[in-house]
Amino acid sequence: MKLLEEKILKEGTVLDGNILKVASFLNQKLDVDFIGKMGSEIADIYSNDNVTKILTIETSGIAIAFAAAQKIGCPVVFAKKHRTTNINGDVYSASAFSFTHQLNYNIIVPTEYLDKNDRIVIVDDFLANGNALVGLIEIVNKSGATLVGCTCAIEKGFQHGGDKLRDKGIRIESLAIIEKMSPEGITFRCN
Ligand code: 5GP
Repeated sequence: MKLLEEKILKEGTVLDGNILKVASFLNQKLDVDFIGKMGSEIADIYSNDNVTKILTIETSGIAIAFAAAQKIGCPVVFAKKHRTTNINGDVYSASAFSFTHQLNYNIIVPTEYLDKNDRIVIVDDFLANGNALVGLIEIVNKSGATLVGCTCAIEKGFQHGGDKLRDKGIRIESLAIIEKMSPEGITFRCN
């Protein structure tokens, strides 16, 4: 998505530890209009796929997942990283290592929110090593639903999580793929 690449070049900052900061439009201050455009792009990608649900993970995936679901006309379900007191029934769970927090989470989704007849697209803000997606894919598989594909706004291609999943036959359609980044500059994968 050309507009996203331009936005990353204009507003993104490369931090230590291979972290791209895009807090000014995606991770802390939300550019509602721009996130809406990303939602439309995701809806276009899956326009022929009869998607019934978007699945994401708290917190940063929720905004873009909401935008995509609004355009598609389906609900969003998000995995929580902690079991809270208001989750009291059966849950699907999977282990996922957090790239930004450098610790392991047990991510959970109540079983009542996913159905074996669902056709699910997983949406998240970033794809780095692929651990968050692997955990979410495990949850989809446990539910018996069909995984249509996965879309992250920004894939860091140099961390290879996306390509490993593509090699397994999973449809990964990122909106922008960064091939290289350093404080001196960012280059995108040509498609
Ligand atoms: P993965 O599980 O693919 O290694 O990492 C994806 C998750 O880590 C995303 O849910 C995202 O929240 C976070 N993440 C990974 N890389 C970055 C980054 O460069 N910047 C930000 N803001 N979050 C990232």
